[in-house]
Amino acid sequence: MEVFDRPQQHDEYVQWISRHWEDGLVLHSNRPPEGELKLHSARCHSIGGGGTPPANGDVWTNYPKRCSEERAVLIEWALAHGAIRRDLVCQKCEHLQ
Ligand SMILES: [Zn+2]
Repeated sequence: MEVFDRPQQHDEYVQWISRHWEDGLVLHSNRPPEGELKLHSARCHSIGGGGTPPANGDVWTNYPKRCSEERAVLIEWALAHGAIRRDLVCQKCEHLQ
């Protein structure tokens, strides 16, 4: 699992999701340090997939992202940090279910 949780890691994060277009998964937190956790495909536009820029000139890594090709690793981490399984997967990423 790779963690991108600092604003300076924006470029590094964007490179990761681009490299892992096929197989990447991103666990996004809406409030540091953990907040509400959502699991996305690296292709999801809501976490920057497909080159989508962040809103308002922001950087993607203002909100922590945990990235892996292994779904089980991210789910296990999320459940250990308060996520509720039925709410975990992004609705735009339903193909992950
Ligand atoms: Zn998504």
